[in-house]
Amino acid sequence: MSTTIESAEGKASLRELIAPVRGRVRLGCVLSGLGAALGVLPAMAIAEIARALLSEPTDSALVWRWTLAGVVTAALATAAALAASQVCHFADADFRYLTRRRVVEHLTSLPLGWFTGRGSGEVKRTVSDDVKGMHTLVAHTYVDATAAIVGPLVTCGYLFWRDWLLTLVLLAFIIGALAVTFPRMNVAYQDNMDAWEDAQQRIASGAVELIDGIEVVKTYGTSAGVFRRFTESVMHLSQVAVRWMSAIGGPNILLTNLFSAAGLILWITATGTALIALGWSDAATLVAFLTVGVGLPAGFMNMIQLGYVTREAQASAAHVREVLETPGLPVPQGPARPEGARVEFDAVGFAYDDGTTALDEVSAVFEPGTVSAIVGPSGSGKSTLARLIPRFWDATSGHVLFGGVDLRDIDPQVLLGTVGFVFQETFLLRDTVSANLRLGRPDAGDEQLERAARAARIHDRITALPDGYHTVLGDDGAVLSGGERQRLAIARTILQDAPVVVLDEATAHADPESEHEVQQALSALAAGKTVIVIAHRLHTIRHADQIVVLDGGRVAERGTHEELLAHEGLYARLWATQNLDSKELR
Ligand code: ADP
Repeated sequence: MSTTIESAEGKASLRELIAPVRGRVRLGCVLSGLGAALGVLPAMAIAEIARALLSEPTDSALVWRWTLAGVVTAALATAAALAASQVCHFADADFRYLTRRRVVEHLTSLPLGWFTGRGSGEVKRTVSDDVKGMHTLVAHTYVDATAAIVGPLVTCGYLFWRDWLLTLVLLAFIIGALAVTFPRMNVAYQDNMDAWEDAQQRIASGAVELIDGIEVVKTYGTSAGVFRRFTESVMHLSQVAVRWMSAIGGPNILLTNLFSAAGLILWITATGTALIALGWSDAATLVAFLTVGVGLPAGFMNMIQLGYVTREAQASAAHVREVLETPGLPVPQGPARPEGARVEFDAVGFAYDDGTTALDEVSAVFEPGTVSAIVGPSGSGKSTLARLIPRFWDATSGHVLFGGVDLRDIDPQVLLGTVGFVFQETFLLRDTVSANLRLGRPDAGDEQLERAARAARIHDRITALPDGYHTVLGDDGAVLSGGERQRLAIARTILQDAPVVVLDEATAHADPESEHEVQQALSALAAGKTVIVIAHRLHTIRHADQIVVLDGGRVAERGTHEELLAHEGLYARLWATQNLDSKELR
């Protein structure tokens, strides 16, 4: 039942996605049908030439007419098939471009939280693999299907005209062979297709996970979980393949043999000579069936194969549609203009899709020109709180306000330029240093670039690179250390000049030497802004204007470092533990 619904959805999705190129695909099909019909004629010509040669007296004029017809139709059939393929490949290039653009444009409108809930493998699958899955359909399947239908039809028409009885005998053989083998092959397909798709998806995700976690794999060798999971998924795929192949093995071998040239010649000759002996047919007709009829089952086989490809393409289309139909961030009808850069959490609650409550009645105010720190034990909700500001997700209850306006009433594009984020992991593109710096402000001039880089204490390192600001990061000699990457990210955020800056454990990975530089870079970034720092190491934020202590998603305490120490609560305990740890380390 659900498969029927899914396949109906798949068909509808496919129709809708293909709509922009449908006209050209239809033209391709007409050309392909023409090509297939003409393609049968040369074989017919050979059969007719044989008939003319066998006739008494030999009709040479007829021989030459059929020879000419055979040559011309062979050339025209090739030309039509080529034209069909060209038309559909051009249509396919546009189809892929349009679909990918639609998907990517839609992805940019999705809340960032959508991506954190998914592996990059799934995003890649939608943008790349699923579109490729549908490519086969647009570029090949429709034209091939038309040829697979028209070819056998024209062949049957000719055979019928020549000898209806022998045609029926041949069709009975083909249909009988399919009736014996096809149901079992189809059951094997139904049973294994989902498992096959699932196994492929696991490999795709496993490969991405493996690449993302290559450092862990290298460090811990092949015993690392990611590596094991990847090899397991490869093993699983081959097990599914073996199961599938053994299920279809018997019927497949039988059908291949029955439909082979040997099988067909045997059947046609046996039945044909019997009919000749009865006086119901003649030698010339038997030659025609041996020449033209032998190709008939190939058309049926193509149709079956194409049925499978279409189902796969439908599954891809349904998946692409699912992504396209994921609601984007609700965009306000009449966006309100925020005044100032004050960020306020007003009784904010937030639960993830799986029901985990991450924030509960959190109220806090972050004023422009001040630095606020969010601290608390692991899992207390710090990152979630920070991520609500650029609308990774919307609050489940309560309001997050920027400049006095609920975030949901602000144009998402305006909001994007409002919050500068320095993440725990620095993300750099494999592009030039200047392109990386300009991500937040594409129109920035070279001088502004340099000023930001100097403020972030990274200018000297950049000029020491082989090509300075034009060096492509990641190439030989252009590998930056963790601290340098962070300073580059900070320079990028300085250049973006967003009024709100969220620093997510930005200094966590820096070594002591570069930590000092990163701290200086951060001070440059923070000047005059609403700064919210999520920190584990409390000594880096003890001068913050305000420290909000979270515990289990609720605000446990708030105040300055001194006030919180005097309060002798959770913060004081965390501080004591950390100081003890760092003394022990020393
Ligand atoms: P912190 O940054 O303080 O370590 P988080 O904000 O990351 O805390 O997490 C708060 C709570 O939400 C934790 O219980 C965590 O397990 C849960 N959580 C975090 N991210 C997700 C997610 N994507 N899906 C479901 N639960 C999550």
